Order: sequence, then structure tokens, then C-alpha cells
Amino acid sequence: MRILVSNDDGVFSPGIRALAQVAQEFGQVRVVAPDVEQSAMSHAITVRTPLHYQRTPIDGLEAYRVDGTPADCVALGAHHWEKVDLVLSGINLGLNIGHNIWHSGTVAAAKQAAFLRIPAIAFSAPYSDDVPDFSVYESYVREVIAMFLQLPETPLLNVNFPRSPRGTRWTRQSVRHYEGLVIPGEDPMGRVHYWFSERPRQGVEEGTDRWAVENGFVSITPLRLDLTDEAALARAQAQLDAGLTSS
Ligand code: MN
Repeated sequence: MRILVSNDDGVFSPGIRALAQVAQEFGQVRVVAPDVEQSAMSHAITVRTPLHYQRTPIDGLEAYRVDGTPADCVALGAHHWEKVDLVLSGINLGLNIGHNIWHSGTVAAAKQAAFLRIPAIAFSAPYSDDVPDFSVYESYVREVIAMFLQLPETPLLNVNFPRSPRGTRWTRQSVRHYEGLVIPGEDPMGRVHYWFSERPRQGVEEGTDRWAVENGFVSITPLRLDLTDEAALARAQAQLDAGLTSS
């Protein structure tokens, strides 16, 4: 089995090394990742400038760095390595739950694979100042990959680790609220500037990704590529049909 491993933290991140090492137990591994950090780039692709694909072996791993986004990396990786069976993204330094799934470059790398009809999993871990002890997550990475390979109809998973996992839970995305905040500040020259930040949320719904992580469970969320709001579509169609019937 051919496994392409990518991320958005960059090819030299300790998280990608940890993920690639577990992936090696399942098949042949190739790392293709951004040359510098591309966090929060979401599903951006590079269309106005050329991309470069350069060999960069890491700890005995076959690895390549790309001067582009996570989605670029997966597209180039799949172009250079035919018949990739599985794409893994991460392990990201920072959770990708709730609204952050929309911003995430980690998830976008997996999503790009799903667009190419390659099954994919994104992995993310909590991050503060210290680099996480990725060995805590190894057995869960192994378990999720093994389980995913038994689910051929499921194209895309988003997996998030709590700090100290005590089990796994299937979850849905928590998007009831947007936690993003814009915080103004001032630079040394007195000019106003802005930071994006987050407000921690309380009272999360049971069964969501955020709930699972806050309760010590590894959150596993199946994602879809079709963003259509089925309920809104049905309502709109029903209104149209009703109008047609009355006329
Ligand atoms: Mn990142």
C-alpha cells in the first residue's frame, strides 16, 4: 500500500514524523509537505506562480518539500507517485474542531486527496508551548488507520486528540458558534494592528468533536465534500412546487 503523508506545519514538523513512522507499519510511505508553515491556509491552491518539488529525506523517510500550500503538496505528491492508496495529514500542532475545520490546512490536505478520490485522514493534537508527546497518540493513530481501511465507502475523516486519550468516539462537527475574535493592538510606532484570537466556549453539545476532546476522547468525524444544505434545498424546492401548483 502506498501512503502519502502531508501536513500544514511544514515538512520538518515533529508531528509529521510521528505520523509517518506509524504509517510505515501499513505500507510504503512518502512525505510531501510544505517547506514552511502553512497553517490556516485552508484549501488555497497556487495558480499564479510555479511550484517546486524537492527531495528532502528525513530520518530515513522518503520526503519532499514543496513551496506551496497543503493542497498543492497533495496534488503534487499524487502526481509524482502513481496509485496512492491513502493520504494522511498531520499530526497538526493544534486542534482542528468546530469552525476550525473550515480554516485548517491540515484538513485541506486530506480534503484535496478526497477530491482526487484517494481516501484520507487528518490528525490534530492540542498544542500550547511544549511540543506534544506524540508517543501518547501512536496507538490511536494505528487504531484509526486500521479501522478506516475497513470502511471503503468513507472517503474522509477528521481526527482530533485530547491531551491524554481514554478512548475514541465518533462525532459530528461542532459549529453552533464562531469562537473567532478580532483583537486590536498597537505597534511600537503607535499604529493600530489586529490579531485573530479565540474565545473558549462552554456548554458544548454532547456528541460533537469539541465535546469528545474536552472529555478525554479521541474525536473521529467523517466529513463530506458536498456542502449542499439539503434541508434548505428541500424547503426551497417545496416552496417552488407550491407556487407552481397554485398558479
Ligand atoms: Mn498547523
